[in-house]
Amino acid sequence: MKMKIKYMMWAILIIGWILGGPHEVSTASSGEQPMMPQATEGVLDLSKAEPTRSGWSMLNGQWKFYWNAFLEPDELNAPGLSTLESSPQYVHVPSIWSSYIVNGHTLPNQGYATYRLVVKLNEGDVGTTQELYVPSVATAYKLWVDGKLLGGRGTLGTSRDEMVPKNVPSVYSFKPSGDKVEIVIQVSNFVQRKGGLWEELRMGDSEAITQWRNRTIIMEVVVFGSIMIMAVYHLGLYAYRRKDKSPLFFGGLCLAVSLRIAVLGQTLAVYLVPSLPWEAAVKIEYLSAIVGLYLVLLFTQSQYPGESHRNVQHISLAVNGIMAGIVLATPASLYTELFVPYVLVGALPTVLYVTYVYMMAAFRRRQGSLLNGIGFVFFSLTIANDVLFYTQWVNEGNFIPLGLLGFLFTQSLNLAGRFSYSFKQTESLSEQLQQMNESLEHKVEERTVELKDAFGSLELRNRELHRMEQSRRQLLSTISHELGTPLTSIQGYVKLMLDGVIRNNEPRTLQLIYDKSLYLDRIIQDLFELSKLEAMQIRFHFQDIAVASLLGKVAQGHVWNSGEWAGQSVNVVMENWKPEDREEIATLHIDPIRIEQVVANFVSNAKKYTPPDGMIRISISESTMPGTGEPAVRVEVTDTGIGIAAEELANVFERFYKGKSSLNARLEGAGLGLAISKQIIEQHNGHIGVESEPDRGSSFYFILPIRWQSRDDKEKGEAV
Ligand code: ADP
Repeated sequence: MKMKIKYMMWAILIIGWILGGPHEVSTASSGEQPMMPQATEGVLDLSKAEPTRSGWSMLNGQWKFYWNAFLEPDELNAPGLSTLESSPQYVHVPSIWSSYIVNGHTLPNQGYATYRLVVKLNEGDVGTTQELYVPSVATAYKLWVDGKLLGGRGTLGTSRDEMVPKNVPSVYSFKPSGDKVEIVIQVSNFVQRKGGLWEELRMGDSEAITQWRNRTIIMEVVVFGSIMIMAVYHLGLYAYRRKDKSPLFFGGLCLAVSLRIAVLGQTLAVYLVPSLPWEAAVKIEYLSAIVGLYLVLLFTQSQYPGESHRNVQHISLAVNGIMAGIVLATPASLYTELFVPYVLVGALPTVLYVTYVYMMAAFRRRQGSLLNGIGFVFFSLTIANDVLFYTQWVNEGNFIPLGLLGFLFTQSLNLAGRFSYSFKQTESLSEQLQQMNESLEHKVEERTVELKDAFGSLELRNRELHRMEQSRRQLLSTISHELGTPLTSIQGYVKLMLDGVIRNNEPRTLQLIYDKSLYLDRIIQDLFELSKLEAMQIRFHFQDIAVASLLGKVAQGHVWNSGEWAGQSVNVVMENWKPEDREEIATLHIDPIRIEQVVANFVSNAKKYTPPDGMIRISISESTMPGTGEPAVRVEVTDTGIGIAAEELANVFERFYKGKSSLNARLEGAGLGLAISKQIIEQHNGHIGVESEPDRGSSFYFILPIRWQSRDDKEKGEAV
């Protein structure tokens, strides 16, 4: 609650300055001035006063006053004035006419009058050049000092048509001849609400007045320029980015405030544009206040939408719009009269509302509310200082424009903060985006490589499938051919019997048919075995077996077999194989029945393709695995038969390969034996091969990995 009251007080002070300028404040506070001497009954006695620190005095107090009379110093001092002097009026300066009560009647704002004041000089000032500062007088005047016309502003008149208003503070220089000075000022006003000497006149030594004036003008110029630059900057900001309206409202507000500063106080506008008409200057003064106030509202709403109410804006637009229209359309004499009602209905509620929004924002800790607070405190301190100055409690005054500059500056900082914040957001967002893009690119690259790999392996698979498909077709056609040939001959013999060409039950033909069917059966058996081997469906019974015992089994089998194949001599030898010399025993991990099957196939082929006087030799030797160099055993069946042509060597292990020699046509064989042998050896992790020379003989071999085991281990193993 305390806070609210404090804010309300500020608001009233701010509105006091914004709408009326510091002059109104001075009027309100001119009642008590305890430090500076006051004029009484038209005489200001400075003779006994302490010289002021600033070097000048305010000519405040009771001035002699002649209402509706233009009197010159001669007339005032002429003895014939006694009729008028009989009832001299004394009024307080500075004040506006409508605050005077003369003969029981409140004076109107419009009229004309003569003021007179006698100043008894301080001893130190006698004989020195003095300066009289006359501020803005409403709204035309003429000035005499010690009976000498020093000048004036505007043209005096007794009606609106006669007079020409002008508002420019001025300084007049003079050298008093005696120890007192008589000041006579004629004033007329028919153009606006305020009339008379409503601001303080100052008198002092010329240096002090010049110094004070220079400082005041410099400060106003600095404030005007600074606020103007803020206006241009923020309006420019809005021109480049229309989306956010806050800079537009704030820039507009700064423009309004700087224009108002230019037409008030030392009236910089009149210095810059000497031809500026009085009416135009007053219109700027009032319009800038109305527009500025509305922009304060819009700016506040745009800053704190969460604390704002839309309807307030509409009502404010209506009230301010109507008032602005009136200011534009009517002369100053009319609209200045309407200003007090406007302040009560439009301005004061707006200021209260804005204060409320700021307080809510501060309460909710919205962005920038701390800076707002600082700006508010600074502004109110300058107001407080100036109030104290006009009540003579402090020596330096007129800081309110500076306070307003400070307040606007904090607002401008707030806006800048918001901009930087959104800029930072954008920066970090774009950084994130870039990072995402990069990681995405990386991912895409990775995926592309993966896809390429997958595509490559797919292509490989595809090629393999294609090759397999081709070989499957070839295999099918070969199988049908291989099966077709014996079937055709069986069909042929049977048909000949049916047709009576061959006698029924002829034993030779029946034997032929029987042989063919046996052959068919063998092909089918072999094919079945081969396909099972290829599909890894045959279970091998692996066991550890010493190479020497394998050798023994092979030798036994073929010595016994050799009886069937009488003719060739079959030798079983062990080349480079001296197991008895070694401490260790060479062990094979094999399925012995299958390995014997391979040896049997080699031997039976050798017998088939070797003439009866030829020689067949089985040898077992120590070797190494091709590629890895691991210890191995090589089993080889060598014959002195027909041999194989070099170009056919690569094909002998293919299915249904039967060679091209004429002998093959005669000898019956399906061409599957070696293919089966190859499968068996490969499933023992071994290597199968052939070396051959046509007409000299062939050498079929396989190499199997072995493990050297100490005899003790071996025996132990067997004992277990
Ligand atoms: P087959 O059952 O026809 O003998 P194999 O697969 O055992 O089938 O042999 C395939 C082919 O390899 C034979 O037809 C033959 O041409 C050739 N071949 C096999 N062993 C020998 C060898 N010891 N001397 C010459 N050629 C051989």
